[in-house]
Amino acid sequence: MPHKPDSLIWSSLLNVCATKRNIKYGEMAARKLFALDPLNAGPYILLSNMYASDGRWKDVAALRSLMKTNNVKKFAAYSWVDINNEVHKFVANDRIHKELDDLIKKVQEVGYKPSTNLVLHDVGEQEKLESISYHSEKLALAFMLMKRPHESMPVRILKNLRVCGDCHAFMKFSSKVTGRTIVLRDSNRFHHFVGGKCSCNDHW
Ligand SMILES: [Zn+2]
Ligand SMILES: [Zn+2]
Repeated sequence: MPHKPDSLIWSSLLNVCATKRNIKYGEMAARKLFALDPLNAGPYILLSNMYASDGRWKDVAALRSLMKTNNVKKFAAYSWVDINNEVHKFVANDRIHKELDDLIKKVQEVGYKPSTNLVLHDVGEQEKLESISYHSEKLALAFMLMKRPHESMPVRILKNLRVCGDCHAFMKFSSKVTGRTIVLRDSNRFHHFVGGKCSCNDHW
């Protein structure tokens, strides 16, 4: 390269490594980013999720303490919906239990299996393995189905981070069992879920 790679280049490399599960080069890119932009939580979280998906919990813990040492602030993942111009925001710990649990049962009947593969998951500790069932976009969906049960309009959900693989599968199954079109705008792109399929063809 004619120029010294900047943080944009390193973070593109890190994103590719996260998708391809290449920890060796992902580590290298992340270390460069820690030096160039030490307060940006993104690279720490991406690398941490790569370690987690590989079962390297010691490395996950080491990264967590590095974030503490460097005083990196994590960002909360949230989704939001709009009903009559009123915005409802959901974070992972909100519980619209019954509605969502009913939906989970229904999608499991047609083949949905919760997946704990966090590779495409650029969120932090707050959306952990055990809370995967209650990711904010699932709560937002349950809320909309509860509030607007009989509408033919698509359910529209916005998410400030990239949707994880489990939520993506869940949305596909939900579009099938509810017969509703679900439009999810995440930080990367639009996902149109219709009849069990997504417009992104599972590439995002
Ligand atoms: Zn998710
Ligand atoms: Zn999609």
